Amino acid sequence: MAAENLAQGPCDIRVTLLGTGVPTPVMERFGPSTLVEAGGEILLFDAGRGVLQRLFQLQTPLKAVRSVFLTHLHSDHVVGIPVLWLTRWLVGRPEVPLRVWGPLGTKALMAHLEQAYQGDIRIRRDEEGLPPQGVIVVVEEITEGVVYEHNGVKVTAFEVDHYPIQPAFGYRIDYAGRSVVLSGDTRFNENLIRFAQGVDVLVHEVIAADLQRARASDPERAERVLMCTGKVYYDLLPEAEKLGAQRPAIIRLEQLYTFPWGELRQVLPRYRRAKELVWVQEEPLNMGAWRYLEAKLRELVSELESEGHSMAIRYVGRPERASPAEGYPAAHAAEQSRIIREALEFKGASSAPATMTKAGQG
Ligand SMILES: [Zn+2]
Repeated sequence: MAAENLAQGPCDIRVTLLGTGVPTPVMERFGPSTLVEAGGEILLFDAGRGVLQRLFQLQTPLKAVRSVFLTHLHSDHVVGIPVLWLTRWLVGRPEVPLRVWGPLGTKALMAHLEQAYQGDIRIRRDEEGLPPQGVIVVVEEITEGVVYEHNGVKVTAFEVDHYPIQPAFGYRIDYAGRSVVLSGDTRFNENLIRFAQGVDVLVHEVIAADLQRARASDPERAERVLMCTGKVYYDLLPEAEKLGAQRPAIIRLEQLYTFPWGELRQVLPRYRRAKELVWVQEEPLNMGAWRYLEAKLRELVSELESEGHSMAIRYVGRPERASPAEGYPAAHAAEQSRIIREALEFKGASSAPATMTKAGQG
């Protein structure tokens, strides 16, 4: 995503998303990093891949970047640190250290980076005359609470749930009656809700986690792959679990636009035994995502076909309708359970074109 300003004004906090990507290396989204500017302070939260290019794009003077706050130490959030730290020194020639706040482990991370680059640092400092202060890193390992207060800008760290990464932090930045909360990587978390009370802007991490979950399930065994988006996933999941070893794989697409070609091209071939790809939706044929997705899914399947793996495609959902609702709650429930039932039934490996299944009563 291109750098994007969420808020700006003469006395406000300015937030720029420098990177919103996941570990997959794509050109459109660099790694996680957010720039917060307020009261003359330039604060960087996380330093993922591409952070330096984004700062350059914004024409942020590297010399002025002095404060980096880390939400947690997953590599995609910190892998930009060495390039930021050393290029800041080389190009910006700062005479003050870089300050880094982060969870337990941040000191070790930075000490090891210094060790890794000691040859380069020594030459540039001793032979090329770069200011020795500028390469020093001052690290503070934090716990929940106010971690920074300067020029009226207050940064508060709070714990979030990113198990098994512990601790992982979100940050709240307050300035002149305005506030921003950065969730960091988290799942549903009461502490985030507490710290985000009354906030002007909440930047919340979201990931296509279900592609990841699909990856984690046992792809070798699944004979069918169900794909869906949204709430129907939670209807399918418990029913699918009841099938035990016959359980189909379920991939929930969180992101439809832009279509996750790269991730699906990685994930689908792993279901070597799968004979069927079923798109499941609650919406009528003319309203859900199927019309948008059909050609794309067919393209993915024909790519697999060319590698000797044939998979049929099936659509399960409501038939074409003038309105998305069934009208009567009982009819809606019956139709919903039909969709779940049909999605979980194996129809054989016929490569018949996807046809909408017949509607139940309602
Ligand atoms: Zn993470």
